[in-house]
Amino acid sequence: MPTYVYRCTTCGDTERDFPMSRKPESVACPDCHGTAESAFTSPHLGAGSGTAFGVIDAKKKTADQATR
Ligand SMILES: [Zn+2]
Repeated sequence: MPTYVYRCTTCGDTERDFPMSRKPESVACPDCHGTAESAFTSPHLGAGSGTAFGVIDAKKKTADQATR
């Protein structure tokens, strides 16, 4: 299951796991219960791009195979 980074403007980043098809655009911050918005760890991928998810998934699969 892919891990997504959410960014709270007050507390910083938090990581959450979601199925790829069910990833919300924002989550409740675990610390202040405010809104933490979806962020990407890679600056090369823009939020809201449908193709970005496929790129991330492909990279993770390649990494998995390389370590086995
Ligand atoms: Zn917070």
